[in-house]
Amino acid sequence: PGDLTEAWLDQLRGATLNRYPDPAAQPLKQRLRATFDLPEGADLVLGNGSDELIQLLALLLLDPDGERRTVLTPEPGFVMYRMIATFAGLDYVGVPLRADDFALDEAAMLAAIERHRPVLVFLAYPNNPTGNLFDPAVMTRIIEATPGLVVVDEAYSAFAGTSFLPRLAAHGNLLVMRTVSKLGLAGLRLGYLVGAPCWLEQIEKLRLPYNINTLTQLSAEFALRYGDRFDAQAAALRAAREELAATLARQTGVTVYPSAANFLLFRVPAGQAAVVFEGLRARGVLIKNLDRPATPLADCLRVTVGMPEQNAAFVAALAAALADAGA
Ligand SMILES: *Cc1c(COP(=O)(O)O)cnc(C)c1O
Repeated sequence: PGDLTEAWLDQLRGATLNRYPDPAAQPLKQRLRATFDLPEGADLVLGNGSDELIQLLALLLLDPDGERRTVLTPEPGFVMYRMIATFAGLDYVGVPLRADDFALDEAAMLAAIERHRPVLVFLAYPNNPTGNLFDPAVMTRIIEATPGLVVVDEAYSAFAGTSFLPRLAAHGNLLVMRTVSKLGLAGLRLGYLVGAPCWLEQIEKLRLPYNINTLTQLSAEFALRYGDRFDAQAAALRAAREELAATLARQTGVTVYPSAANFLLFRVPAGQAAVVFEGLRARGVLIKNLDRPATPLADCLRVTVGMPEQNAAFVAALAAALADAGA
């Protein structure tokens, strides 16, 4: 926010860029602990975005002797799980979510875990790109059935109002991953992994010592002093999300899905997604086209909740684009 810019720049003026960054980033870690109420017994590892943490986990769990090992996650899910697993040389298994409501298919997940014995399972909570929260009871049974690590990816926790952090103590194979990206600080590149010290010590060995640069450490530590501002911003986005969801639900031809994130997934009439997407773009509104024929996301688009005037512009453009599409 504008009124904090000067104080932030003062902070940056003191940055000693002729020196290496603080490899331990203790002040920032303390600030993260305090701001997000991280559990006492848990440790944390910082990453250059959670993307880097996903990569570190893949490196950690790769077998040095070349034995095949599997990363497993429900699909549709966050694309980096598959990409990083593949690049690292891990096997990747995607288990389809239920087609009607994008809930976990418990039987299919448990059967796949039994069959593939994954070293790593990712569960995004809420899920991206579908926006829903999985049933925590089903997630718990998945954590208990998994022989390897389970990472609950809470990239959108600010908009969810629920977390697996309090459950860390109950499960020795559970880690929780977070990021400041979706709080509105994506350019800083800062993610953090929370969990039992015995696991995080091993990940620390792989982390490059200066992965969190000085400007990011100073800026994030500064920004998180104003945690209440971020809370207020997230609350405003949650309220705007509910309003936008209600508006979309009233729009003929549109099915909107429940979301605990800062975006909404919606479906348009069959075969119209590309036309609606282009119609929006022609009106200056860029959203995400997730439409892939004959997949659970057929005819689906995803819109990020923005400022009130952006949401209003989107709603108006969508009505016009649907009318053009003849929907
Ligand atoms: C955006 C996102 C990430 C990556 O976050 P960065 O910290 O920006 O790398 C990870 N997981 C999910 C589910 C996301 O949506």
